[in-house]
Amino acid sequence: MKQITFFIIALLFITCKEVTTAQSPMSNITASDVEVIMNFLASDALEGRDTGSEGLEKAAKFIEEEFKKSGIEPYFDSYLNTFDAKGTETYNVVGYLKGTDPDLANQFVVIGAHFDHIGKGKPVSGDTIANGANDNAAGSTAVISLAKHFAKTKNNKRSVLFVLFGAEERGLLGSGHLAKVLKEKNIDLYTMVNFEMIGVPLNDKSYKAYITGYEISNMAEKINEYSGKEFIGFLPKAKEFQLFRRSDNYPFHKEFNVPCQTISTFDFTNYDYYHHVDDEVSEMNFEFMAELINDCAPVIAKILNTPTKEIKLN
Ligand SMILES: [Zn+2]
Repeated sequence: MKQITFFIIALLFITCKEVTTAQSPMSNITASDVEVIMNFLASDALEGRDTGSEGLEKAAKFIEEEFKKSGIEPYFDSYLNTFDAKGTETYNVVGYLKGTDPDLANQFVVIGAHFDHIGKGKPVSGDTIANGANDNAAGSTAVISLAKHFAKTKNNKRSVLFVLFGAEERGLLGSGHLAKVLKEKNIDLYTMVNFEMIGVPLNDKSYKAYITGYEISNMAEKINEYSGKEFIGFLPKAKEFQLFRRSDNYPFHKEFNVPCQTISTFDFTNYDYYHHVDDEVSEMNFEFMAELINDCAPVIAKILNTPTKEIKLN
């Protein structure tokens, strides 16, 4: 009898859980979806996606196609938001999904990652192409996958910009440019979530990823609350190396003074190929990436739909 009661309670619990998740559609990005995007962005044909290169152009075209196919619109006249990177013309790729709520649609959330890399690297056994699989085809894949997910579910009361930044490796130039342009347009930016190097899991941590600028806001706490588990943690090394200031979240934080932070799983010990020609897709863990992206989808859905701006600077 006790056992039966237990089963009924367990069944009720499972049913309730399913009802809750049904309200915020689950994403089901698979490891093979991730692999397809990664294989293209980090292929030798793209020659390390250096600023001003044909390889970067190929990457941008691919991203535009992915956006177009899924119904993500350009935010500007075209998907390409061009700017001058110290004498070289380059661009961010900016996709737009208008909010579904008449009031909240005026508030914006930026989901971003840089898609450029360093081009060539120090040769290793004849290989000179720095493919930048982890840095940052991986983050780019997260942004493209999330864009496709939200284009399908249209579960966004707030408006979203899905941005692949150019010239990050030249000094955060693409994000610096876009943050200024958006500030001039006086958009109401709620928050920005950026992705960097999420291709390999952390070693021996209770959490799946860390966030830069952990202590500047309640973003980590809110993400964990929204995901119902310890998804994001504090990595002391991220603070020690001031990673908060070293990626595309930073120019947005500076312009808008709202929480703009980067999710990453690179912890200085779990990956030997930072800015190295061996930063290749063969080193990536697609299962892990798909899991992480699927974990992010309901969290971002919450960010896009809460009646008030719950993520705040401390
Ligand atoms: Zn990077």
